Amino acid sequence: MHSRKLKQIEMRRCVNCREVKHKSEFLRVVKMADGKIALDFTGKAQGRGAYICKSPKCAAENLKRRKLDKSFKTKVPAEIYDEICGAVDNFNSLTF
Ligand SMILES: [Zn+2]
Repeated sequence: MHSRKLKQIEMRRCVNCREVKHKSEFLRVVKMADGKIALDFTGKAQGRGAYICKSPKCAAENLKRRKLDKSFKTKVPAEIYDEICGAVDNFNSLTF
């Protein structure tokens, strides 16, 4: 585990737009110890996390520019990108 001098308020940065917001505003994607990548709806999965805004714009740009590949330094399966787009669609249809 990393040690942190400051107690972090739960702020996270979007892999696409780099905006910093409270973690509840993001969709979490996690790379597990075995290298498997999955969406983490609980926010509690073990592994290295990446965060993306629950916005169609960020989901689409993430898909187009393969931002997660860069963040995780690995090839993220296309299904994960599709899943993110689907999940973001869901969030937005629930919210509005
Ligand atoms: Zn974003």
